[in-house]
Amino acid sequence: MSEEKKISNFVRDIIDGHNEDGRFDKVVHTRFPPEPNGYLHIGHAKSICLNFGIARDYDGKCNLRFDDTNPLKENVEFINSIKEDVKWLGFEWDAELYASDYFQQLYDMAVEMINLKKAYVDDLSADDIRKYRGSLTERGKESPNRSRSVEENLELFEKMKNGEFDEGEKVLRAKVDMSSPIINMRDPVMYRIMKVTHHRTGDDWVIYPTYDWAHGQSDSIEGITHSICTLEFENHRPLYDWYLHALEIHHPQQIEFARLNLTHTLMSKRKLGVLVDQGLVEGWDDPRLPTISGLRRRGYTPEAIRNFCDKIGVAKANSTVEFQLLEHTIRDHLNKVAPRAMGVMNPLKLTITNLPEGETKYFEVDHYRHDPDKTEMRKVPLTREVYIERDDFSENPPPKYFRLAVGREVRLMGACLVTCTDFVKDDAGNVVEVLGTYDPESLGGQAPDGRRVKGTIHWVSAVHGLKAKVRLYDHLFAEPHLDEDVDFIEQVNKDSLVTVEAVVEPGLKDAQKGVSFQFMRKGYFVLDTVDTTDDKMVFIRTVSLRDSWKKKQK
Ligand code: ATP
Ligand code: MG
Repeated sequence: MSEEKKISNFVRDIIDGHNEDGRFDKVVHTRFPPEPNGYLHIGHAKSICLNFGIARDYDGKCNLRFDDTNPLKENVEFINSIKEDVKWLGFEWDAELYASDYFQQLYDMAVEMINLKKAYVDDLSADDIRKYRGSLTERGKESPNRSRSVEENLELFEKMKNGEFDEGEKVLRAKVDMSSPIINMRDPVMYRIMKVTHHRTGDDWVIYPTYDWAHGQSDSIEGITHSICTLEFENHRPLYDWYLHALEIHHPQQIEFARLNLTHTLMSKRKLGVLVDQGLVEGWDDPRLPTISGLRRRGYTPEAIRNFCDKIGVAKANSTVEFQLLEHTIRDHLNKVAPRAMGVMNPLKLTITNLPEGETKYFEVDHYRHDPDKTEMRKVPLTREVYIERDDFSENPPPKYFRLAVGREVRLMGACLVTCTDFVKDDAGNVVEVLGTYDPESLGGQAPDGRRVKGTIHWVSAVHGLKAKVRLYDHLFAEPHLDEDVDFIEQVNKDSLVTVEAVVEPGLKDAQKGVSFQFMRKGYFVLDTVDTTDDKMVFIRTVSLRDSWKKKQK
């Protein structure tokens, strides 16, 4: 890793400390542990970059572990999408593992906990368990079943496993401390009965471990050294440590960092799933969603997302990052790599009256004119009729309007200078055509006498241009911060998608789906991987050209 790219953060400081004091024999082994109950979002990318980045930089390892302990919400579609997204982000896991692979080991460990008098079977209902638990100001009350004998607990737990009880009838609880100031330590549940089929273990099990029971022990089984998770698990660390102490097994260090929050969106698989299920977005890969698959479809690159994660850093305190920073990062990357092209949205016909019908002039344009190291020339045809943006003509030009208006001269980008002579309106009073003449001496776009032209507009030949649809997306939530007191569904921006007609230059005929272009003066656009067909091009605007983020920073 080059010096200037060296990442430093408090998690790495802790690891450096362990490498110095030899706690883990200088071994660094992390894991990324998603629950397969939805598609990954940009928040997960932060965790992925952190965990895999550490493994890479410390010559360590990083596992992909599916935390699949709740069969009700999980499925194989989610597993496959998660694998695809991690790979797409550019990371390779050392092992693909599943918490469900440890169900037998976890069960055996639970039996050991009973033998150690550190776990018991409880008959209290979920409601009663909650009532007995107390609150932050009130200590908890012990369950009447807390003093069951080891023998009785072993027998009941086995019956739980054998399906002899109904759901909710019994749970296995850790025997910790009902008066602990930390509520998670008040005899937390380790196993509950769920008579549901698991996507991997089928009907082998009718009891399933809770997150807290499964997580630390899975980390330990895998030899994880640093179990990195988000801040909401800080309160779970005492329990994480308590289980591992009790069992006297390999003891990873849990480290908590702040979740990524972004303005104008939300970061919860569950809530994103509701938007998908209710049809408020097209699917998990809807370009408005902050999911990795949505961002990919939107035209984001793995490089941009990784850069974004580097930029935001890793901190110990929660905060909200502005969406513009994400947009800034993709704009920055596409500016370097995206070929330039012309695409006209809301087209208006411009007839160049002194260019004969049937005549085509070709101009050589460099797709990569922004990049001195790369050249890819293409021929762009100019004909008597071209399309320009409706906004690039004004009947009554306001001050500082330097585009087309009667009597004004502009440059057709890369082609020639054109002076507007007249325009045509339909019966409803809409301008439907603009007329003009070109200066035959100005081919290539420069005036022979050096006269200055203030405006340059893009254009596409009406004969050769290709029709396309362009989707212009806005934020999923118009407000930067969601109102906690209002259902998030009510706050979805109903105007977050506008589709416009467009004409793009003919050179894009063979463009590959998923490839990005800068449509000059308009922004970055990607040929949609989902809705583009052989006879219909659909472009998605990834991001506009203007960078409000940079301005803000000044
Ligand atoms: P969600 O509520 O979206 O389902 P989660 O935390 O329940 O999120 P998991 O599948 O359990 O999702 O997360 C896998 C890993 O990704 C965990 O280590 C989790 O802490 C981390 N993670 C999830 N969301 C974020 C976020 N917004 N920022 C950083 N890391 C996150
Ligand atoms: Mg979760």
